[in-house]
Amino acid sequence: MTEPKRTTRLAPSPTGPLHLGNARSLLLCWAIGRARDWRVLLRMEDLDGERCTLESESMILEDLHWLGLDWDDEMIRQSDDVERHRRALQTASEAGTIFQCARSRKDLRETSEALNAPHEGGPKARSTYEMRPDHRTSYRFMPGEHNHRATIAPGPLIIEDEIVGRYECDPLDIFGDPIVWTRRDTPSYQLAVVLDDAHHGVTDVIRGEDLLPSAALQTRLAELFGVPSPRWWHVPLLRNHEGRRLAKRDEDETLSQMRARGIPKHNVIQHLSASCGMNEPYPATAREFAEQIDHESIITWSKKLRLDGGDRLPEDFEDRLKEPP
Ligand code: GLU
Repeated sequence: MTEPKRTTRLAPSPTGPLHLGNARSLLLCWAIGRARDWRVLLRMEDLDGERCTLESESMILEDLHWLGLDWDDEMIRQSDDVERHRRALQTASEAGTIFQCARSRKDLRETSEALNAPHEGGPKARSTYEMRPDHRTSYRFMPGEHNHRATIAPGPLIIEDEIVGRYECDPLDIFGDPIVWTRRDTPSYQLAVVLDDAHHGVTDVIRGEDLLPSAALQTRLAELFGVPSPRWWHVPLLRNHEGRRLAKRDEDETLSQMRARGIPKHNVIQHLSASCGMNEPYPATAREFAEQIDHESIITWSKKLRLDGGDRLPEDFEDRLKEPP
């Protein structure tokens, strides 16, 4: 039997335009995939209620085109296939692994704080599984006014990340039993990402390293839903001069704002290349970036960043973008 073609995906959330940090993670994902002749899919992760808008989706598409990123097949929208998610949840609930939970995140946080006095340290999220009902097997999933959670197996889990290397954590301690179906009658991010990666044949997930603990949780959820887990590649996040990671909510400059003030695309790609530890002459297009990036140097670069305490942009980087690095 021939192996299925290796596949990765660009998975932006249409909750606002892209900033330089999003651009770098997406560029790395695309370049790693294209350099190896993998399939690269585009999936809009648009399940986050009113935060996701078609306006943001079009801005992101414009940004991706501007950066020179392309993808195979039609764009996928997570919201187009909620019935498939629902069926998977129904099946899991028949196996007794899902329960309904009337407690809000705020309640849980308060319970968790009461259970774990700060000086004691210890697991933060136990409060969710202390609420697991005793007779789970009699429960049938019915969307309704409450969230639904999945029961996560306790114990440490090891991820062999292609960039970070060995990473160990206990996802139950970090996340508790995660919400898999929301009271808005939609799958949660954690559930949808696991089911969709498996459904679309994603073999390699390449994304920002803030999601490394989620990879452990997603591995547990994949076991629970009986689907394969991908290989993981978590790339360093871009931070501002104070060490804060770039974020839409902090109003870091977006790619469309850069375009509006006349920053040429090749300056952006060259600055991003320099920030990834690449050497001069810096690649000036996404295609050149893909030709020059190699696995060993990404590993070395990301290790170095971890030792140095992270990747910080200079304070005046918005000015610097006016010129090549
Ligand atoms: N949609 C997520 C984001 O934009 C990425 C999730 C993932 O790659 O698994 O941060």
